[in-house]
Amino acid sequence: MEVTSVLRMNDHSHRTVARKGIFRQCCSLERESPMEVATALRMNVVAERRIFRQCCSLEKEGPMDVANVLRMNEGTGKMSYAQNSWLQKHGIEVIKPITEEAVMNMLSTHFPERLGIADLGCSSGPNTFSALTIIIEAVCTKYEQVSLPMPEFLLYLNDLPGNDFNSIFRSLPSFYEMMKETGVPESCFVAAVASSFYCRSFPSNSLHFVHSSYSLHWLSQVPPALYDEYGKSLNKGNVYITEDSPASVTYAFLQQFRNDFSRFLKFRSQEVVRDGCMVLMFYGRRTKQAVDEESGVLWTTLSQAIKNLVSKGFIEDEKLDSFDLPYYEPSAEEVEEELKREGSFTILHFEQKPIAPWEANKNAKNLALITRAAVEPLMKYHFGEEVMDMIFEEYTELMQLDFDEGKKKLIHFVLVLKRSN
Ligand code: SAH
Repeated sequence: MEVTSVLRMNDHSHRTVARKGIFRQCCSLERESPMEVATALRMNVVAERRIFRQCCSLEKEGPMDVANVLRMNEGTGKMSYAQNSWLQKHGIEVIKPITEEAVMNMLSTHFPERLGIADLGCSSGPNTFSALTIIIEAVCTKYEQVSLPMPEFLLYLNDLPGNDFNSIFRSLPSFYEMMKETGVPESCFVAAVASSFYCRSFPSNSLHFVHSSYSLHWLSQVPPALYDEYGKSLNKGNVYITEDSPASVTYAFLQQFRNDFSRFLKFRSQEVVRDGCMVLMFYGRRTKQAVDEESGVLWTTLSQAIKNLVSKGFIEDEKLDSFDLPYYEPSAEEVEEELKREGSFTILHFEQKPIAPWEANKNAKNLALITRAAVEPLMKYHFGEEVMDMIFEEYTELMQLDFDEGKKKLIHFVLVLKRSN
C-alpha cells in the first residue's frame, strides 16, 4: 500500500444528507410518503408541482453568502469541474505565449533565489497545475539561459474555502513527480490559500508572479442594488444583464465590479513585489454597450431554461426573479478606467481573444456540462438540488439551438500587469 495516497481520517459531508432530509420533510408535510410525491411529480400532476416548488423554496432565504457558496463542482465525477473544464484548458493553452513572455519580462533584470507564484481561483482538476507548469518551465528556461542555478518555487494555490482542495492535495504527488522529470527536483513547495482574492491573502511583498484564469468575472457578492427596499428584484426573469434589464441593473453590476476589481488591485499591490507581474484572463465585453451580441451568452440561455420550467410549473417565478449571478463581463474601458484610478499596476499588454467554444468541442451537451460544473453549487443553493437535472436538460436543448444557429464567441480579456509603485 502506498500510505501517502491512502492514509486519511474519515470525512463526511452532511450537506447532501441534510438537503435530502429537508426534501423528505417537506414532502411529508403534504403527504405521507415522499415516494408518492416523487411518483406524482413524474406524472406531472399540478398539485404535486406546488409541493415541489414549496420544497425548493424552503431551501434558503436571504442574500447568498457568495464566498461560502461559490465553487466549481467538486471531485472527479461526471458533473465535476475536473471533467468539464476543457474549454478553460484550451484558453490557458491559447494564452501560453503571453504568459511565457510575461515571465521573461519579469526576469529581465532581477533573478531571485526564491520565487513566489500564485494562481488565484485555481479550482480543482487538470487546469489547477496547467498554468503553474507553464510558468515554472518558462522560469527554468530563463535561468538556464543566464546560467544561474534554479530558484526555489513557492507555489500558492488560492481559491475560496469551499473549493475542493482535497482533490488538489491528492494530485500533488503526481505534480511533484512531473516537476522532477522537468528538472526542478526538490525545489517546489506547494501551499493552499483558502481565501477570497478580494481580501488580503498573502504576506506583503511575497509574490513575484500572479496568474488567474476564468476567475475575475466572479464578483464578491450579488450586487445588493439589484433589489429594492422590499427585497424585490429589479432584474425580473433574468439571472444576468439582458436587453430587457433596466439601466439600474446594469449600473448595479458595474458598481460591484468597480468595487471588487479595485480591491483586488489594492490588495495585490501590497502582496506583489515591485516589478512583479500578473497575468489575468477573464470574460469581458467586446463593446461599450451594456449588452451586445456576445455578452452574457451563456446566461441568457440559462435564464430561458429556468423560464421554461417556470411556465411548466416546476419553479416559482419569484424564485427566478430573486436569483442573480455574482458575475460581470466588463468592457475594456471599464477595466482600464479602474486600473488607472487605482494606480498600482501598469498595463504591459491587453488583448481580447474571442474563443468560440464549439471550435474546441462540437457538442452542445458538453458545453452545457461546462456551465453546470461552474454554476451548479450556486444554483443548488437557491433553487434546490431537486430541479438541477431539469434545468440543465432544458439548458442543453437550448444550447443545441444556439449551437445550430451560429457561432457565438466568448470574449476573453487577457491582461499582463506590472506593479508600478
Ligand atoms: N483557474 C481555473 C479555475 C477557474 S473556475 C481554470 O482556469 O480552469 C473559477 C474559480 O475561481 C472557482 O474555483 C472559484 O471558486 C474561484 N473564485 C471565484 N471567486 C473567487 C474569489 N473571490 N477568491 C478566490 N477564488 C475565487
